Amino acid sequence: MQHPNEIFAKLLSMEQRNDIDLTALRSQLLARQAELAPLAERSHEDSRPVELDQTRVGRLSRMDALQGQAMAAETERRRHQELERIAAALKRLEDGEFGNCLSCGEPIAARRLAADPTTPLCIACAAGPSPDR
Ligand SMILES: [Zn+2]
Repeated sequence: MQHPNEIFAKLLSMEQRNDIDLTALRSQLLARQAELAPLAERSHEDSRPVELDQTRVGRLSRMDALQGQAMAAETERRRHQELERIAAALKRLEDGEFGNCLSCGEPIAARRLAADPTTPLCIACAAGPSPDR
Protein backbone atom coordinates (compact mmCIF):
# COMPACT_ATOMS: atom_id res chain seq x y z
CA MET A 1 0.00 0.00 0.00
CA GLN A 2 1.26 3.44 -0.93
CA HIS A 3 1.91 6.03 1.68
CA PRO A 4 -0.94 8.62 1.69
CA ASN A 5 1.54 11.43 1.12
CA GLU A 6 2.84 9.74 -2.01
CA ILE A 7 -0.67 9.39 -3.37
CA PHE A 8 -1.36 13.02 -2.62
CA ALA A 9 1.85 14.13 -4.34
CA LYS A 10 0.94 12.04 -7.38
CA LEU A 11 -2.52 13.59 -7.48
CA LEU A 12 -1.04 17.05 -7.25
CA SER A 13 1.39 16.49 -10.09
CA MET A 14 -1.39 15.17 -12.31
CA GLU A 15 -3.79 17.87 -11.43
CA GLN A 16 -4.56 20.57 -13.93
CA ARG A 17 -5.94 23.98 -13.23
CA ASN A 18 -9.31 23.66 -11.54
CA ASP A 19 -10.07 27.38 -11.58
CA ILE A 20 -10.38 27.36 -15.37
CA ASP A 21 -12.77 25.37 -17.51
CA LEU A 22 -10.36 23.51 -19.79
CA THR A 23 -13.14 21.84 -21.72
CA ALA A 24 -14.81 25.15 -22.48
CA LEU A 25 -11.52 26.80 -23.44
CA ARG A 26 -10.70 23.86 -25.68
CA SER A 27 -13.99 24.08 -27.56
CA GLN A 28 -13.51 27.84 -27.79
CA LEU A 29 -10.10 27.28 -29.42
CA LEU A 30 -11.43 24.62 -31.78
CA ALA A 31 -14.34 26.83 -32.82
CA ARG A 32 -11.99 29.74 -33.58
CA GLN A 33 -9.70 27.38 -35.50
CA ALA A 34 -12.60 26.06 -37.56
CA GLU A 35 -13.62 29.64 -38.27
CA LEU A 36 -10.16 30.80 -39.38
CA ALA A 37 -8.84 27.80 -41.29
CA PRO A 38 -11.15 28.03 -44.34
CA LEU A 39 -10.59 31.81 -44.52
CA ALA A 40 -6.83 31.32 -44.55
CA GLU A 41 -7.16 28.94 -47.49
CA ARG A 42 -9.35 31.28 -49.47
CA SER A 43 -7.26 34.40 -48.94
CA HIS A 44 -4.31 32.53 -50.36
CA GLU A 45 -5.94 32.87 -53.75
CA ASP A 46 -6.63 36.56 -53.22
CA SER A 47 -2.98 37.35 -52.69
CA ARG A 48 -1.84 36.45 -56.18
CA PRO A 49 -0.02 39.22 -58.06
CA VAL A 50 -2.25 42.05 -59.18
CA GLU A 51 -2.81 41.88 -62.88
CA LEU A 52 -4.58 44.82 -64.33
CA ASP A 53 -5.46 45.83 -67.81
CA GLN A 54 -3.50 49.07 -68.12
CA THR A 55 -5.55 50.29 -71.04
CA ARG A 56 -8.71 50.11 -69.01
CA VAL A 57 -7.67 50.86 -65.47
CA GLY A 58 -6.15 54.14 -64.38
CA ARG A 59 -3.22 54.67 -62.07
CA LEU A 60 -5.39 55.44 -59.07
CA SER A 61 -7.35 52.25 -59.20
CA ARG A 62 -4.13 50.32 -59.66
CA MET A 63 -2.86 51.92 -56.46
CA ASP A 64 -6.14 51.03 -54.81
CA ALA A 65 -5.70 47.46 -55.89
CA LEU A 66 -2.14 47.31 -54.59
CA GLN A 67 -3.19 48.85 -51.31
CA GLY A 68 -6.04 46.38 -51.03
CA GLN A 69 -3.62 43.56 -51.69
CA ALA A 70 -1.24 44.80 -49.01
CA MET A 71 -4.10 44.90 -46.54
CA ALA A 72 -5.21 41.41 -47.53
CA ALA A 73 -1.67 40.16 -47.03
CA GLU A 74 -1.53 41.74 -43.57
CA THR A 75 -4.89 40.21 -42.65
CA GLU A 76 -3.68 36.83 -43.83
CA ARG A 77 -0.45 37.17 -41.88
CA ARG A 78 -2.39 37.88 -38.67
CA ARG A 79 -4.80 35.06 -39.34
CA HIS A 80 -1.91 32.68 -39.87
CA GLN A 81 -0.31 33.89 -36.64
CA GLU A 82 -3.53 33.36 -34.71
CA LEU A 83 -3.92 29.86 -36.14
CA GLU A 84 -0.41 29.06 -34.94
CA ARG A 85 -1.20 30.40 -31.48
CA ILE A 86 -4.38 28.30 -31.39
CA ALA A 87 -2.48 25.18 -32.45
CA ALA A 88 0.14 25.82 -29.76
CA ALA A 89 -2.55 26.36 -27.11
CA LEU A 90 -4.30 23.12 -28.11
CA LYS A 91 -0.97 21.33 -27.86
CA ARG A 92 -0.44 22.70 -24.35
CA LEU A 93 -3.94 21.49 -23.44
CA GLU A 94 -3.08 17.99 -24.64
CA ASP A 95 0.21 18.02 -22.76
CA GLY A 96 -1.48 19.20 -19.58
CA GLU A 97 0.66 22.34 -19.55
CA PHE A 98 -2.12 24.72 -20.43
CA GLY A 99 -2.63 27.68 -18.14
CA ASN A 100 0.97 28.02 -17.03
CA CYS A 101 3.17 30.84 -18.23
CA LEU A 102 5.72 29.63 -20.79
CA SER A 103 8.25 32.08 -19.43
CA CYS A 104 8.05 31.88 -15.62
CA GLY A 105 5.87 28.78 -15.16
CA GLU A 106 3.42 30.58 -12.90
CA PRO A 107 -0.32 30.04 -13.47
CA ILE A 108 -1.85 32.52 -15.88
CA ALA A 109 -4.83 34.36 -14.41
CA ALA A 110 -8.14 32.71 -15.31
CA ARG A 111 -9.58 36.02 -16.49
CA ARG A 112 -6.64 36.53 -18.83
CA LEU A 113 -7.15 33.05 -20.30
CA ALA A 114 -10.86 33.68 -20.69
CA ALA A 115 -10.13 36.83 -22.69
CA ASP A 116 -7.55 35.07 -24.88
CA PRO A 117 -7.13 31.31 -24.46
CA THR A 118 -4.11 31.36 -26.77
CA THR A 119 -2.03 33.58 -24.53
CA PRO A 120 1.23 31.80 -23.62
CA LEU A 121 2.40 34.30 -20.99
CA CYS A 122 1.20 35.55 -17.64
CA ILE A 123 0.42 39.23 -17.41
CA ALA A 124 3.75 40.05 -15.73
CA CYS A 125 5.83 38.34 -18.44
CA ALA A 126 3.68 39.75 -21.24
CA ALA A 127 4.32 43.22 -19.86
CA GLY A 128 8.04 42.57 -20.07
CA PRO A 129 10.71 42.66 -17.39
CA SER A 130 9.83 45.12 -14.67
CA PRO A 131 12.46 47.79 -13.92
CA ASP A 132 12.76 46.90 -10.24
CA ARG A 133 13.65 43.26 -10.87
ZN1 LIG B 1 5.15 34.60 -16.49
